[in-house]
Amino acid sequence: MPFSIHNLPYGVFNIGKQTHIGVAFGNDILDLTLCDALGFIDAPSFKNQWVFTHNNLNRLISLGATAWAELRSNIQFLLSDAQSPLQLDAENKAKVMVSQGSVQMKLPLHIGDYTDFYAAKAHAQRVGELFRGAAAALNENWLQMPIAYHGRSSSIVVSGSPVYRPQGIYQTENGLVFDKTKALDFELEAGFIIGAPNKRGQAIAIQDANGHIFGACLLNDWSARDIQRFEYQPLGPFLGKNFCTTISPWIVPFAALVDCQVPLSPQHPSPLPHLQWQDDFSLDIAYEVQFKSDKMQMPITLCKSNHQDLYWSPAQMLTHHSSNGCNLKVGDILGTGTISGAATTAQGCLLEITQNGTQPFMLPTGESRIYLEDGDTVTLSATAKGKHGDIYFGECVGVIC
Ligand code: CA
Repeated sequence: MPFSIHNLPYGVFNIGKQTHIGVAFGNDILDLTLCDALGFIDAPSFKNQWVFTHNNLNRLISLGATAWAELRSNIQFLLSDAQSPLQLDAENKAKVMVSQGSVQMKLPLHIGDYTDFYAAKAHAQRVGELFRGAAAALNENWLQMPIAYHGRSSSIVVSGSPVYRPQGIYQTENGLVFDKTKALDFELEAGFIIGAPNKRGQAIAIQDANGHIFGACLLNDWSARDIQRFEYQPLGPFLGKNFCTTISPWIVPFAALVDCQVPLSPQHPSPLPHLQWQDDFSLDIAYEVQFKSDKMQMPITLCKSNHQDLYWSPAQMLTHHSSNGCNLKVGDILGTGTISGAATTAQGCLLEITQNGTQPFMLPTGESRIYLEDGDTVTLSATAKGKHGDIYFGECVGVIC
């Protein structure tokens, strides 16, 4: 699905031995590094800033919301206005448009900190039932605040990077072992990129929270369930989670998602006042997980869910994160947690789909799966429904090896 003029997600790519910054448009990329070098960028905030010579988006993002809006408007002008230097001169256009298929996408950000939330009620309920039984499925705190843990940013990789099967300590029928995980799972998530920092000691008010978000991407929080199960109490996830997290290469600007805002579903009990905002919203983004073994010709769909399956809003997650005075920095990522809905077709990880590994599913090749095998490919994708057409997130792909 091509990227529209109303989307214009940012990414970083290698062209030859050089690293450039660009925006996806159609099946191509508008090379902003070249546009700037050739004098086509006409956005006051970017004058003499040299943000396009950096090998990540952090410097660009750090210029702030006014700069983001200027650049987005300038890019839309370059790509669509008959009087722009790219539309007036086909040679100019040919110089700065590159095919997405001809470049290698890179991790688009320097990610200082990564926090992973747990914001889908259906996911928390099912996982809680599987791990602790129905009576203790949702802890008392879950309905009062967006629960999260601090993840590991060093092992966040861009789509297409190999996913190495981790080893760890876990229980088996024959007792405790240290071995490669037998319960490797994916988690369908979205990530929100912090665009404006807050000072340490200064909490972000909920009505200001969305102004701190630059954009969104897909995020696969790979998980080793056997390792996770043995280690997670009392301090939470550690080696069962921190070996790899894959993100999609394109960062969809939060500005592109304005048309996809939908009212946040009522929350009972009401959150405490600092997490309430009368204009708070969720987003109408349709997510999908596709799976393919190395024997399959075509992938199958494992999950279809929607951003509205998340109980907590992006603003509530960000507000809660900063509410103790914790400082968020440009390029930090907040993961939503597994985006699962109530339907059995909307389960965003194998832990739910196979009911804790007890219900294998069959593949068209006659193979079956409980958890991921070497050679399996998991592809996340997403499309938001905007008033001016679909906002596509691209793909987040990982192959197990
Ligand atoms: Ca997760």
